[in-house]
Amino acid sequence: MPSRKIIIAIDGPAGAGKSTIAKRLAARLNFLYIDTGAMYRAVGLWALRTNTALDDMHRLEQLALAAQIELTDGGTGVRLNGEDITGLIRTQELSDAASKVSAVPGVRRALVEKQREMGEVQSVVMEGRDIGTNVFPNAQVKIYLDASVEVRAGRRLRDLQAKGESSTLAKVCAEIRDRDERDSTRSEAPLRQAEDAAYIDSSDLSPEAVEEAVLKVYRDRTSNGKAHGGTLQ
Ligand code: C5P
Repeated sequence: MPSRKIIIAIDGPAGAGKSTIAKRLAARLNFLYIDTGAMYRAVGLWALRTNTALDDMHRLEQLALAAQIELTDGGTGVRLNGEDITGLIRTQELSDAASKVSAVPGVRRALVEKQREMGEVQSVVMEGRDIGTNVFPNAQVKIYLDASVEVRAGRRLRDLQAKGESSTLAKVCAEIRDRDERDSTRSEAPLRQAEDAAYIDSSDLSPEAVEEAVLKVYRDRTSNGKAHGGTLQ
C-alpha cells in the first residue's frame, strides 16, 4: 500500500516563528519545507523590477502565472526565472510588496495551484497565511502560531539588523500592524485560524518548546506518525 502523504500546515502572522519551527520540523520528520511567503515575495520583486503598479490586478496575475519559482536548498533558497533571489526578498520593501500582491485574487490562484502541486509530491511542512484554511483544508495537522505584536516586532527587528538593514522597534511594529491588518481583512483567503487548527502562542516559549508543542499535535493527529511510515525520532 503506498504510504499516505502528510501535510503539516502552519499559519499565523509575521514574526510568530513559523519559519523557524517549520524548518526544524521538516528536518526532524524528513518532510519537504515550503515557505509560501517566499513565493509572494518573488512575485513582489518581479513587480517592483518591472515597475508594475501594486494594484494592477491584471498585470500582477500575468506575472504570477508566468513566474518560474523554485524553492531550493531544502526550501531555504528561492529562484525566480532561474535567478537566485534568496538574498533580495527579506527586506521591509519586499514584505510590503508581497502583502500587496498577495491580496490580488489572480495572484493567489496562480500561487496556490503551484503550492498544491508541491504538496502532492511528498509529505510537507508548509507555512503561510492560508494553508490550513484554503490551500490544504484537509491537512492532517494544522497549527496557528501566534505571538504578541511586540515580541513579533522584536524578532523581525533582530532579523533585519542581522542583514544590515537599520530600523527601529516602533517602525517595525507599525509595519507589522499594517501587514496584519491587510492580510486579515482582504477578501481573498484572509489570515485566520482554521477551526480545526491548534493555537500556539510562542511569545514566552523557546523554539524547542514550540517544536515540542507542534510535535505533540502531530503525534495526536497522525497516530504518532505511523499513518505515513514516518521517521519521528
Ligand atoms: O511569510 P512572509 O512574511 O514571508 O509573507 C509575506 C507576505 O506574503 C505576507 O505578509 C502575506 O501578505 C503574504 N502571504 C500570503 N499567503 C501566504 C503566505 C504569505 O498572503 N500563504
